[in-house]
Amino acid sequence: MTLAEEIRERSGQDINSCYQCHKCSGGCPLTFVSDLPLSGVIRVLQLGLQDVVLASRLVWLCSGCRTCYERCPNGIDGARVLDAIKAMAKEEDRVEDPQVAAFHDAFLGMVRRFGRAYELGMMAEYKIRTGTFTQDVPMGLKMLARRKLRLTPSLAPGRRDLARLFREGVRYRKRRAGGDFA
Ligand code: SF4
Ligand code: SF4
Repeated sequence: MTLAEEIRERSGQDINSCYQCHKCSGGCPLTFVSDLPLSGVIRVLQLGLQDVVLASRLVWLCSGCRTCYERCPNGIDGARVLDAIKAMAKEEDRVEDPQVAAFHDAFLGMVRRFGRAYELGMMAEYKIRTGTFTQDVPMGLKMLARRKLRLTPSLAPGRRDLARLFREGVRYRKRRAGGDFA
C-alpha cells in the first residue's frame, strides 16, 4: 500500500487529486509558523516520504478550522489528512509535540465518554497527562468564577453511537496492527 493509499484509507481523502494550487496554504492561519505548509505536507505524502511528514510541525499545530477544505478546489479536507498523520505518528511513537498529543487525547477521551467536550474534565486529564498542575490555574479559577466552566459534564443524546464508533476504531487499529490489511 502506498502512503497516499494509506492516507485515503484512514481519512477518506484522495490526496493524489491535489495539483498544488496552494490555495489551502494561502488561507491556513498556521502556515506562518509551520515548517511545511499544508500543500507541502500533501506533496510530501504524494512522494511517499513518511519520515518527513511525521516530523512536520503542522500536524500538531493544526487547529482544525477547515479553512483549507473550504478553499480546496478538489475538496481535500486537510484537517482529516493531518489527523490521519497524527494517528500514524502515535502508532509509530513519533509524536513531535507530546503536549498537543496529550490535549488531543484528553479531548477525545471526553467525547468518547460524554459524547461532547467537557472542559473541566479535559483540563484535569490534560494536566495529569502532562504534569502541568500549576500552569493556567489563575485563568481556570477566573473561568470558574464567571461560570464559563461546567462543574459536571452534560451528556449528548448520541453518545452511545459515538462510543460505538470509538470501539470500532480500536478494533480497526488492532486489525491493522495484526497485519489484516496487507
Ligand atoms: S484545518 Fe488545519 S491545516 Fe487546514 S487551514 Fe485550518 S489550521 Fe490550517
Ligand atoms: S487547495 Fe487542494 S489542490 Fe490546492 S494545494 Fe491545497 S490540497 Fe492541493
